[in-house]
Amino acid sequence: MKKNNKKKQSGMKLAVLLTLVAVGILAAIVVLTNQESTSSVETAGVDITGQPTLGESGAPVTVIEFGDFKCPSCKAWGEMVYPQLVADYVDTGDVKFSYINVLFHGNESVVGSLAAEAVYEQSPESYWDFHKALFAAQPSENHDAAWLTPEKALEVAAGFPAIDQAQMKADMEQQETMDKVDADKTLVEEHGVAMTPTIVVNGQTLEDPFDYDAIKALIDEALAEEN
Ligand code: CA
Repeated sequence: MKKNNKKKQSGMKLAVLLTLVAVGILAAIVVLTNQESTSSVETAGVDITGQPTLGESGAPVTVIEFGDFKCPSCKAWGEMVYPQLVADYVDTGDVKFSYINVLFHGNESVVGSLAAEAVYEQSPESYWDFHKALFAAQPSENHDAAWLTPEKALEVAAGFPAIDQAQMKADMEQQETMDKVDADKTLVEEHGVAMTPTIVVNGQTLEDPFDYDAIKALIDEALAEEN
């Protein structure tokens, strides 16, 4: 009888132990699963007021690129991911896309940002084509060498009849234009942007901006929440 009780007790101890182990494994699975799904981190909403924005203003999902005209990865993103994003979601009215300047490459980043802000101010309808053309002007080799000068930006703008180059040059030297670049810099700091491009989908920052499936998943999730 005593022996049986002992057996029973040790049996129960074993059961408790197994339960604890099971709970531990479950907890580990939950943690791991959560880690896997965080291909994005929560960021506070980014205010895109006054930023160049492509697509319908009422589009339910907002995608933001923090980019730098001097950055080779941003050029690559613009060529590899952006066209697909526009075709799949911007043209359909599901996504609006904004671009915010990042100044990680010194004075040339500032020059590129001033040029883009000046074009956006003067001819918003020319902005995205100028944006694309300025990235296209980025040398594919030795991109660290200086290339982004005011003269280069004006030369790129010369391809667009809607842009008055004299006006653009004057605007690039205006404090108001610098204020817009500074406002972007503040957004970059506020949102802890550490690399370019940084892609934010409805407040969620992609860990890998080139992972189009992850971008798609975040957009589809946001669209499903809308419906
Ligand atoms: Ca801006």
